[in-house]
Amino acid sequence: MFVKSRTISLRKNKQIEINTRTNKDFQGRLEKTKSLPDIFEVVKAAVWECQRKSRGGLMLGLANLGNHPQGFFGAFYPVGSNVIVMNKIPLERIKETRKELYKPYVFHVLLHEYLHTLGYMSESGVRQMALEITKDAFGEEHLATMIAANTAHFFGNLVYPDATWGPDEMKMELVCGFDRESANYIG
Ligand SMILES: [Zn+2]
Repeated sequence: MFVKSRTISLRKNKQIEINTRTNKDFQGRLEKTKSLPDIFEVVKAAVWECQRKSRGGLMLGLANLGNHPQGFFGAFYPVGSNVIVMNKIPLERIKETRKELYKPYVFHVLLHEYLHTLGYMSESGVRQMALEITKDAFGEEHLATMIAANTAHFFGNLVYPDATWGPDEMKMELVCGFDRESANYIG
């Protein structure tokens, strides 16, 4: 069976077979994740697959960065720092509206900020690169690719309508064990 299907796909297009194999792999890995650090490992693997780039030593902070019905705000990376700060509000909104978006959304946001940490600073450049990496990893139909292609389409699941509030800069929780590559350097 395996040999037969392989022969057919090779005859069709070798690239398709490679992509299919990769898609299955990344989808399965994302589905198996149980935490934000787990999802970050998938992000790093996807970037490595596409760009052959990586870095370690990053931290993840969670904070209330406010609710912005007209302009969704998922996370930010202070340039030159080693921390990605993620907005808790969209995560809560997703859990209340459409739980299956949680992992694809987290993947999307962490990928975007991770590309910034690698030195890509152009917003449009990072968005385009994130879309291509996500498509390569998961395929066109996956929710993560759909979020990358058109985030605004999902605003209803990411922000609370009719309510605007600002960030709560005083409180940020650090997520333990975020960057496994940095574990050796701690303590
Ligand atoms: Zn950005």
